[in-house]
Amino acid sequence: MPSSQELLLELQHIVDRPIRVMVVCGTHNRAILRYDLRERLPRNLELVAGPGCTVCVMPAGHIDAFVKIAKQPDVITTTCEDLLQVRGTRESLASIRAQGALVEVISTPRDSLAIAEANPDKIIVYPAVGFEATAPGIAEVILDAASRGIDNFCVIPSIRLLPPTLDSLLDDPHLSIDGLLCSDHINSLSDTEAYTTLAQKHHLACCIAGFEQEDILRCLLNMVKQIRSGVTQVDNLSAVVYSSEEYRKAKKMVAEVFFAVDTIWRGIGIIEESGFVIRDELSLYDATRRFNVRLPDEEIQCQCICGMIMSGLGLPPDCPDFGKACTIEHPIGPCMLSVEGICASYYNYTLEHGRPAAQPLHG
Ligand code: SF4
Repeated sequence: MPSSQELLLELQHIVDRPIRVMVVCGTHNRAILRYDLRERLPRNLELVAGPGCTVCVMPAGHIDAFVKIAKQPDVITTTCEDLLQVRGTRESLASIRAQGALVEVISTPRDSLAIAEANPDKIIVYPAVGFEATAPGIAEVILDAASRGIDNFCVIPSIRLLPPTLDSLLDDPHLSIDGLLCSDHINSLSDTEAYTTLAQKHHLACCIAGFEQEDILRCLLNMVKQIRSGVTQVDNLSAVVYSSEEYRKAKKMVAEVFFAVDTIWRGIGIIEESGFVIRDELSLYDATRRFNVRLPDEEIQCQCICGMIMSGLGLPPDCPDFGKACTIEHPIGPCMLSVEGICASYYNYTLEHGRPAAQPLHG
């Protein structure tokens, strides 16, 4: 296997025109900053961020709904750590926990079901925040609860689907993206077919990679070679491979539990069929129906430009508040609050580590 230095040299050699790649996933964006890759890549190879941070794309009104449900009597909200600190208009799950609400941090939706079994006198609510790759695991837990008659467990359906949103963003002629760097989450149970369709429609090179420095560089090299030879396809360089049987089973579970509806993304707006809701037959497991709380489809305006950054139209240094009014200690927007957020990654790996401050996209 070539070293990162050899891969960088080869990239320097073959990038002979401006190429713009969208780094879809927040974990990839963080890795790129951790390895300082942006500064070491050829000048013509530009990396912009995508909408792949699940917490960052949650509108403030939806966090308000999570908080409202968490404040109901006899409710235990079970959540991932990352969502805990994200504020709605005023409060977060962490702030209401400090005031006595029952909020527990868990690792998987199955932990939530286990808490439900151990606490039959409580209703356990799981805000299902994630992209399409998380849908099979959540569907499996809901079907398991239904088959075992566990009725004190329910989910706030907040799963977002990346392909329709990328499709909508890529329609913007100002974006002019040549390739998508995708994480191996898409390789799993979301549709690689959907990415193949995207690649063909928008003439993109796509490549799926793991999160190590060499994985990312090999993927960028693959995309540059695709672009140079006019190929538009999805190549998988990830070590994670799922069997067709696993894939078929996952799709079936997802179809049994969810269907896609038009859904709002923070800073981006409403995108057609870009989120999952729970089917009527399983409405007992839908916390929004159980508690009659609506997930609003309008945005609360704020000064933060996270939406623009997650749409590939800027980078954190383009924000006038970055590193000044908005820091890790005093975050304004969700991109600074979440560990997967692009502003937090920039802050941690440029300003905090004493490297020269990163350049804005529109410098
Ligand atoms: S630096 Fe802060 S205010 Fe600016 S875009 Fe990022 S999160 Fe929003």
